Amino acid sequence: ETAVLTIDGPVSSGKGTVARLVAARLGWHLLDSGALYRVLGYYARNQGVALDDEAALVSLAKALPVRFVESQGETAVILDGEDVSNIIRQESVGELASQVAVLQPVRDALLARQQAFAESPGLVADGRDMGTVVFTDAPLKIYLTASAEERARRRFEQLKEKGFGATLATLVEDIRTRDDRDMNREVAPLRPADDAVVIDSTTLSVDDVVNRILDEAAA
Ligand code: C5P
Repeated sequence: ETAVLTIDGPVSSGKGTVARLVAARLGWHLLDSGALYRVLGYYARNQGVALDDEAALVSLAKALPVRFVESQGETAVILDGEDVSNIIRQESVGELASQVAVLQPVRDALLARQQAFAESPGLVADGRDMGTVVFTDAPLKIYLTASAEERARRRFEQLKEKGFGATLATLVEDIRTRDDRDMNREVAPLRPADDAVVIDSTTLSVDDVVNRILDEAAA
C-alpha cells in the first residue's frame, strides 16, 4: 500500500506551499485537491452550468478534462488543452469551488480521481477532507491552520505576485465567508481528523512548518 501524508486546513493556511515542499523533500507525488474543485467550478461557469444543478455538475465532474502536468517543481493545470493554472487561483474561482464543494454527489464523483493519485513511493495530499474522507487510513495526518488575519495577509501577497488586485479588508471578509461555508457545510465539513496533528502556523515560517511535518513523518 502506498504511503499517504494528508495536509488539511482552511484557506491560505499555507498548506499548498507546505504540501509542495514536503512532497519535494520526500520525493513523493502531490495532490492539490482544491485545484480539482476550482477547475470544476470554473468549468461549470464557462459551460453555463448552474452551480446548484447537481446532475449536470456530477456529469462535468466525472468527465472533467483536466490534467496536472509537473515541470520544474511546479504543477500546470491543463483544462481542455488550456493552461488554467493562474486563472483558477482567483478569489472568484475559489468562491465557485466552495459552492460546488457543498454537494455530496459532486464530492463522490471526484473521490476515485483523488484516490488514484496515491502512487508509489508516496503521496502528499492537500485539501479539506484528505484525512477525514479521502485517505482515512493515512498514517500521518496534518491539520494546518493560522489566524484569519494572517491568512488574509498571505493571500494578499500571493495575489499581488500573480498580478491580481485585492484589498486586505476584502480578503479577511472573503476568508471568513469561505471558512464559514467550509466548516459548517453538512457534507465533509472542514475539521481536523481525530488522529491529526494540529499545527498553528500563525507565527511559524514555511520552513518551520515543513521541518515540523518531516520530523513527524520520520517519527
Ligand atoms: O484549497 P483551495 O482554496 O484551492 O480550495 C478551494 C475550495 O474547494 C475550498 O474553499 C473548499 O470549499 C473546496 N475544497 C473541498 N475539499 C477539498 C479541497 C477543496 O471542499 N479537499
